[in-house]
Amino acid sequence: MSNDDEKTEDYLFKIVLVGDSAVGKSNLLARFARDEFYPNSKSTIGVEFQTQKMDINGKEVKAQIWDTAGQERFRAVTSAYYRGAVGALLVYDISRRQTFESIGRWLNELHTHSDMNVVTILVGNKSDLKDAREVATAEGKSLAEAQGLFFMETSALDSSNVVAAFETVVKEIYSILL
Ligand code: GDP
Ligand code: MG
Repeated sequence: MSNDDEKTEDYLFKIVLVGDSAVGKSNLLARFARDEFYPNSKSTIGVEFQTQKMDINGKEVKAQIWDTAGQERFRAVTSAYYRGAVGALLVYDISRRQTFESIGRWLNELHTHSDMNVVTILVGNKSDLKDAREVATAEGKSLAEAQGLFFMETSALDSSNVVAAFETVVKEIYSILL
């Protein structure tokens, strides 16, 4: 008998970032994976994906997080982007209502191109912009409840809830698969 049974399994979960342009998708990833923030980022900072090791219940899990290269501006995110995704962060900007109104369309696209069971969290980003808020926390919460999504407000600028948002998705995927 080999010792394979005792070896730590290597879990790799593909997670996609989805949402309108400039809601902060690339900065959420930069904050989570590198603890960096770009005050004037353009779509060029986007990487194809970034792999981040995480410790979930004492097990090493790798989250492979995919970011767009700005193609969401043209509503041309390809099916390859979604293929094989087991998790998604559906992001809007709490200071721009239009980005919240786009969520339904992004959710449809996600469901068209990926498994219905993809673990999804609705993320209201830029919670630091208190004076510019256009979407109440309760609105985000109730949309999430209606659609069966997790929900969190985050700030890539001040870091609040960024790790928590990614961890929520990864922990749920982990608990479903095991
Ligand atoms: P993406 O197009 O969705 O990838 O958005 P980016 O990550 O490129 O961010 C767009 C702009 O919003 C940039 O100028 C960022 O600096 C800014 N931004 C991103 N996240 C936050 C945040 O949490 N708070 C604030 N105040 N600005 C943010
Ligand atoms: Mg981006």
